[in-house]
Amino acid sequence: MLIKKVNGSPARTRIGAFGAIAGATMDRRAFLKRSGIAVGGIAAVSALPFVTVQKAEAATARPTGPVTLKRNICTHCSVGCTVHAEVVNGIWVGQEPAWDSPINLGTHCAKGAATRELVHGDRRIRYPMKLENGQWKRLSWDQAINEIGDKLLDIRQKSGADSVYWLGSAKFTNEGAYIVRKFAAFWGTNHVDHQARICHSTTVAGVANTVGFGAMTNSYNDISNSKAIMFMGSNAAEAHPVSLQHILRGKETNRAPVIVVDPRFTRTAAHATEYVRIRPGTDIPFIWGLLWHVFKNGWEDKEYIRQRVFGFEEARKEIDKWDPKEVELVVGVKEDQMKRVAETMAKTKPSTLIWCMGVTQKTVGTANVRALSTFQLALGNVGKSGAGLNIFRGHTNVQGATDIGLDNTSLPHYYIVALEGSWRHWARVWDVDFDWLKARFDTHDGKSMMTVNGTTSTRWFDLVTAEKKDLEQKDNVKAMVFWGHGGNTVVRMPEMKKAMDDETKLPLVVIIDPHPTSTAVVHDRKNGIYLLPACTSYEMDGSRTASNRSIQWGEQIVPPIFESKNDYDITYLLARKLGFADRMFKNIEVKDGKPVAESILKEMNKGALSTGYSGQSPERLKEHMAHQADFDRDSLIATKGPLKGEYYGMPWPCWGPASAKHPGSPILYNNSLHVKDGGGAFRARFGVAYQGRNLLAEGSYSKDSELKDGYPEFNYGVLKKLGWDKDLTETELATINRIGGATPDAVSWATDLSFGIIRVAMAHGCQAMGNSKARVFAFGLPDPVPIHREPIYTVREDLVAKYPALADRRAYRLPHLGKSVQDRAIKEGIPKKFPIILSSGRLVEYEGGGEETRSNKWLAELQQDMFVEINVADAAARGIADGDWVWVSGAENASKARVKALVTERVGKGVAWMPFHFAGWWQGADFRARYPKGTDPVVLGESVNALTTYGFDAVTHMQETKCTVCQIEAIKKA
Ligand code: SF4
Repeated sequence: MLIKKVNGSPARTRIGAFGAIAGATMDRRAFLKRSGIAVGGIAAVSALPFVTVQKAEAATARPTGPVTLKRNICTHCSVGCTVHAEVVNGIWVGQEPAWDSPINLGTHCAKGAATRELVHGDRRIRYPMKLENGQWKRLSWDQAINEIGDKLLDIRQKSGADSVYWLGSAKFTNEGAYIVRKFAAFWGTNHVDHQARICHSTTVAGVANTVGFGAMTNSYNDISNSKAIMFMGSNAAEAHPVSLQHILRGKETNRAPVIVVDPRFTRTAAHATEYVRIRPGTDIPFIWGLLWHVFKNGWEDKEYIRQRVFGFEEARKEIDKWDPKEVELVVGVKEDQMKRVAETMAKTKPSTLIWCMGVTQKTVGTANVRALSTFQLALGNVGKSGAGLNIFRGHTNVQGATDIGLDNTSLPHYYIVALEGSWRHWARVWDVDFDWLKARFDTHDGKSMMTVNGTTSTRWFDLVTAEKKDLEQKDNVKAMVFWGHGGNTVVRMPEMKKAMDDETKLPLVVIIDPHPTSTAVVHDRKNGIYLLPACTSYEMDGSRTASNRSIQWGEQIVPPIFESKNDYDITYLLARKLGFADRMFKNIEVKDGKPVAESILKEMNKGALSTGYSGQSPERLKEHMAHQADFDRDSLIATKGPLKGEYYGMPWPCWGPASAKHPGSPILYNNSLHVKDGGGAFRARFGVAYQGRNLLAEGSYSKDSELKDGYPEFNYGVLKKLGWDKDLTETELATINRIGGATPDAVSWATDLSFGIIRVAMAHGCQAMGNSKARVFAFGLPDPVPIHREPIYTVREDLVAKYPALADRRAYRLPHLGKSVQDRAIKEGIPKKFPIILSSGRLVEYEGGGEETRSNKWLAELQQDMFVEINVADAAARGIADGDWVWVSGAENASKARVKALVTERVGKGVAWMPFHFAGWWQGADFRARYPKGTDPVVLGESVNALTTYGFDAVTHMQETKCTVCQIEAIKKA
């Protein structure tokens, strides 16, 4: 991490300083040397001093003229570091990590430090293209939009609206996510999704079904207040490097123990005071094993559980099964270490629990998340500073894009598509006729598809290749739009490739991205792909939501380079071609053919009641960016200046409208504060009782609440019963009556466009979403109390009978197999043929599918080969030496990949690990020549998902990337 050496912002003087060093050219070798990095070594540092990057760039022809300073947000992860850019004559000439950002405190990691290359790099798509007879052909934007639009309309007419899939992106700004979600609704399909599906969809479902909202409860900064810190399946040192400065502050200033639970000894584990190696796929028995010690020793928070948690009676029955002997058999951890970890977390409070994709990307991902939440609830560790369920999201705006409903099950802000009321709410916000909107959707088996969940991004290709009779929609998918989403991050690539290869089944593929993704090349088709150059979010205005729910406004640093366009403009062009732009942009300002970001956010603010995204107007967000230095680095509260008392980025919920000046909620469910000051309680979203048992909080309420007990969600009827309806203004009442028609009492706080119900509840110290217990017995979900299930592909045959996968079922318009695949694998002897567990994850140098970062020469230098980590004993048994080329083969589709071996003790015996950022090779063949000229990433390699297998979470269809099986063999040297 870069440590600030001088006070004040150096940005204003640095341009002058460039003049002084003109001629002090630093080439790549010098840059690497000065940065202390071994060329190509994976032992490279996890953070680079920023200034060296800039100086290396400073040597080339430098424009002269006045310097403009701009602020935007790093696009590479959810930490939300501010990038301070210097622009001269429309060229981004320099950058710094913002010194006054309370989030990054003047630091960047390697990716942030090299991010300017993302804009000014030379490997971007420069103009629209299409693949014709195997050749990439240049098009104008008009030609491209016309041809794509005509093909889409033709497919719609012949096969229906559901035959087009719109796959969006966590790279979108909030406004981009909103406009693309709205676009899909106006097109008339729920086939829309984004990267949250493959990183934290199970977190969202698991946490929302336990405590109310699908989000991190505290902030990165607040971890500095923790007295004990436990990571599970999170390698923050590589995935969220700058977050570590807050975590290490907690470790050092509070002498907080740091426990890292992971099958792999990661760079995060290198910071641990206690490392626990578990067998992949045993998160639930590990957590139940800890709770076995907690309950046996009476370390649970009994009063907290009595007041605020429902269902421990049921949960205890499962926990009691996990005595030390069974835990050691299944998880592989001994009793003394389990007891020590449980005692540390229980007695050194507040203690926090951090998790990432090591927990979520599983066939039991949602259940895993519920188990982890149960652990923290047992210790009374939710709703308090230094405690919490701290879920580190991946991409820069994956939290925002999730909240805004780039999702096959929800409209913006978790209004679920299955309820007609959700559509009526947004139709009112959008000012369109509900019946017109409904008519945009297909009808299938006599039912409107408007209220039927779409299919997830993990399975889009099954919609192409499945028999029509097996689908619950009119026809197969015939067109796939990848808008900021690569293909190599999704499992079962051989089957994806099969769908891509078939031009008759999938006649149209549209890729909208700054870089050609693996989808542009990893297939054998010759026609029917369009590449549209989208700009990066540095080239547009708009807001992003960091993992801690703070929203930050990014300014356009430079206009879109080459012929690229931003997501707003592309959406508008497509909507115009498809014939619904006038309706869709009715209340959004469009200036010179370009939708205005601020105007998009204002429309969203009007309808985003359910999550409290209504108070963060563009004006308020810009003020926060301008006064970053006024916010405290631990609590995120402004301690001085015009925003005093507000929290940085107004973490949602920020109960609106903006004029209410709600400060944001830095810690969810924190009842030590007044709701007006950012306090709250668990959300009452599961009713008031279950089989006669109370679900509402008992004797627990937020500060100064006039209701000294639990209470249900507010609607107009509840206000009337309390006699608080008199507090509504005439205008508010008129709006409620207009929305409610014959049944105004049913108008809820989440659909009251006047904000009156929220305002009145808050004036009485109550939160409009109710005050409930969290539930650790999640009735309505598969396995209401999480139970251990062996991975579908496991090497532990001995455990399958006792802990089988879930039975086969149907979901998201498709068959969803579980037990039958597991049984078949055992029958076919897969555990013997593929005896090594294969897991995958992230590197500090790269991000996501990797096209952006592998095209960045500064980052590409750091990791040039795709590799597999293999344990020393497994390597020795196979005659494999470190650095050898090996074949890794997978259990389905005769899959194989040619990669380098990294022989290491990081992984245990019988476990292998591969990064997921590589693409461009396929089964040993290099596809570099297939990229449009000049756009091939610097580094190519095999994709781990060429080897991954079937297996999806029962609730969200999250893919299994952490527990499949493989075999590894040396490639004989010639
Ligand atoms: Fe910060 Fe993440 Fe960007 Fe690194 S990648 S600079 S940690 S936002």
